[in-house]
Amino acid sequence: MNQELQSEIDHVRELLTERSASLVNKQSIFKAIELKALYDRIPDIPLQSRASFGQAVNQLRKEIQNLIDQTEPKQENVSSIDVSAPFTPNCPVDKRPRLISSQLGSQHPLMIELDQILNIFTSMGFYIVESREIDDDWHMFTSLNFPEDHPARDDYDTFMTIERDEQNKPWIGPAHTSSMQNRILSEHKDDLIKNLPIAAVIPGRVFRNEDVDSRHEHTFYQLEGIYVSSHVSIGNLLATLKAFLERYYNRSIEVKTQPFYFPFTEPSLEIIMSCPFCSKTGCRICSFTGWIELLGCGQIHPNVLKLAGINSPDYQGFAWGVGIERLVMIKYAIEDIRLFESGRLDFLRQFSIKDNR
Ligand SMILES: [Zn+2]
Repeated sequence: MNQELQSEIDHVRELLTERSASLVNKQSIFKAIELKALYDRIPDIPLQSRASFGQAVNQLRKEIQNLIDQTEPKQENVSSIDVSAPFTPNCPVDKRPRLISSQLGSQHPLMIELDQILNIFTSMGFYIVESREIDDDWHMFTSLNFPEDHPARDDYDTFMTIERDEQNKPWIGPAHTSSMQNRILSEHKDDLIKNLPIAAVIPGRVFRNEDVDSRHEHTFYQLEGIYVSSHVSIGNLLATLKAFLERYYNRSIEVKTQPFYFPFTEPSLEIIMSCPFCSKTGCRICSFTGWIELLGCGQIHPNVLKLAGINSPDYQGFAWGVGIERLVMIKYAIEDIRLFESGRLDFLRQFSIKDNR
């Protein structure tokens, strides 16, 4: 290799050595265009000098790497510890708690089941609208035919904010997913004129100031359903819910009704289903009665339709609300609703889908 080529390499060495001293990420020096230019030149070097030139460029690269290795601080070999575990900071390092062995996480059982539930309803032609976790008095009560100061408002034990909205009302953590009804009915009312039904399911988290026990939680999930069209009857409601329950529990289910009261449905009903565990012979899940009280539902009250701008004599609809935890507890014979939010890994891991990674 002639002197000219050697001095070219020496020049680049000088440049890169100087520049690397000021770099925070020293490895980035290897992206320098001067170094790349040397490599790019190799094919053009006369054959008799090409090999020695290539070796010299590689040697330059090694020298720069050695230089970086000498200047960069050595990383200490620190073993990982569980900083959240209680221990005395002055205790010897080998006595400090080790990290617990990690496992891959999995979807929460409620979300796995909710996916299945929504799949059933979408296959029946319902679309999904997500609920919201803070709402106002109008959507929670007034739009659902709860008159001002009506005692039924107290049944819901709602959480409210101290802050007030423009109507001087507190904001509300919704106590039911029905607070979405007016929004969906108003938004889709023109579909009815085109002979399309309004058919929506609304999953959402709801909040009630309840005393917590094995059957009650202050925070839980609900699935609302609404269907509006012309010539809709309670028979359509019962057929829809029966079809859903039979697909979700994968067996034949009987349903019966008993009268109930909600301000936003008329008539209002409670659906009671035959126990999917014992086929009505009686077991622990159905408290040895053969039947399980499952959900509230009814024909949508004409006032609720009117408040959304729907002409109630021309169109009718039905609605229901069911606790997702309730459906899942019956399916897997889970006795305590608090397990879902307990963070207990032994409970949650029973539902992990091994191949869902
Ligand atoms: Zn039973």
